Amino acid sequence: KKIIIAIDGFSSTGKSTMAKKLANQLGFIYVDTGAMYRAVTLYAMQHNLVAKEYTNTEDLIASLPQIRLTFTLNEQLGFAEMYLNGVNVENEIRTLEVSSFVSTVAAIPQVRQKLVEEQRAMGKEKGIVMDGRDIGTVVFPEAELKLFLTASAKVRAERRFKELTDKGDNVSFELVLENIEQRDHIDSTREDSPLKKAEDAIEIDNSDLSREEQFSLILDIVSK
Ligand code: C5P
Repeated sequence: KKIIIAIDGFSSTGKSTMAKKLANQLGFIYVDTGAMYRAVTLYAMQHNLVAKEYTNTEDLIASLPQIRLTFTLNEQLGFAEMYLNGVNVENEIRTLEVSSFVSTVAAIPQVRQKLVEEQRAMGKEKGIVMDGRDIGTVVFPEAELKLFLTASAKVRAERRFKELTDKGDNVSFELVLENIEQRDHIDSTREDSPLKKAEDAIEIDNSDLSREEQFSLILDIVSK
């Protein structure tokens, strides 16, 4: 049966970890929409359309037809990886540099239009777990189940900092926290489909929950 589970929430609330686990458990497809916004941002960086001092919105919009986004299953890892024009960018899109520009790029209405359209097309397949910021509100308002994950900015920054430093990225905690607060702000105040909880979404604050506790809580909800 075609069931859609929408998982939304602020940055680094562990949405993708949860969504991935849930999709595996249910035999559903998992789609990380943040990866799509990150890939468009990487393209913009590669073509000097975005940098610290400026965003070349006009040229980025004109380039959108040249940006081809695909997910390809990595059999070994058991989940799909992000490809930008045929190149695997899964690692490159996770840097703090991409994170520092992505919310600006994601606020451009034409960018959202393109990605929302592609995301809706993916929902036509089979059971799907999709995570992002606007899945329950804009992409699939008709989703069977909507979850909205939250946690304090400090807890999220601590998790994110550990993830980045474990990978060998040389970042400071303050910079990671600053990036998270900045993205929260841009994501929830942008004009086009700002980040907010769908009225019928179930909110889970995981500040004090381990991943295991949260997952069993979500499985409880899903099985109802
Ligand atoms: O989920 P992730 O943190 O990778 O998303 C990166 C950024 O992409 C978010 O901060 C947000 O600006 C943007 N995004 C969005 N809508 C989505 C998914 C991500 O605007 N559905």
